[in-house]
Amino acid sequence: MTARSATQKGIILKSKNEIEIMRRAGALVCQVLDHVCGLVKVGVTTGELNEVAEKMISDAGAEALFKGVVNPAASYPFPAALCTSVNDEVVHGVPGDRALKAGDVLSIDCGVRIDGFCGDSARTVAVGDVSDDAKSLLKVTEDSLKLAISEMKVGRMWSEVATAIQKKVESAGMSVVREFVGHGIGQEMHEEPKVPNYHDRSQRKSDFCLEEGLTLAVEPMVTLGRCDVMYADADAWVIVTKDGSYAAHFEHSIAMTAKGPLILTAA
Ligand code: MG
Ligand code: MG
Repeated sequence: MTARSATQKGIILKSKNEIEIMRRAGALVCQVLDHVCGLVKVGVTTGELNEVAEKMISDAGAEALFKGVVNPAASYPFPAALCTSVNDEVVHGVPGDRALKAGDVLSIDCGVRIDGFCGDSARTVAVGDVSDDAKSLLKVTEDSLKLAISEMKVGRMWSEVATAIQKKVESAGMSVVREFVGHGIGQEMHEEPKVPNYHDRSQRKSDFCLEEGLTLAVEPMVTLGRCDVMYADADAWVIVTKDGSYAAHFEHSIAMTAKGPLILTAA
């Protein structure tokens, strides 16, 4: 396979060497998430978790991908290495002085670049004792990512995988967020294609085939209530559920290889 060949519109396939570099970036993301998730407890602030992550990333000589990201709608560039999204916050939570409480669910998203290539992964963890509903939200969301990975086969269309994710989530009485989706990943954090976690007629034209060398960030975002989301406030960073229901988010960066999907953001 040729590096950076693009057999489908806009998609940049990766060589084995490039995928190896992406494994290093992914391994660091995994280490950061392992460590930071281990620090989550009642009373810790999201800002403290971010400080630990920033130090680990800079000590490794890596670049924190989220820090400084400009969103034209937002009133400031993203200020942190982690996104920390609590309870009804779905994604893009800004770390700060919010202290975690028992019963919270915290989604932690981390992205880094090493030697020119990126890794991106997220997990949601429970803070202290959480409700049974919150427990099942975390389990269904994590299981939907595992299911997606098990369904990823060279030659398959993404829509088949997305349909499996959606069925898994909706059969549990939960909803898949539609306004935010996964993405190709490589030298840039966000590359083509868009990787939705649901499938309907509107998706037909953007469907794509899982081919060797494709590298994707697959990231189901699931809510206990309805799928609709909005900005939490005029800062235009934090995304919350419109109905106030809790949300969870699990993400891995994954390479399609001849042997099947390779999780780049695992230990
Ligand atoms: Mg992410
Ligand atoms: Mg991502």
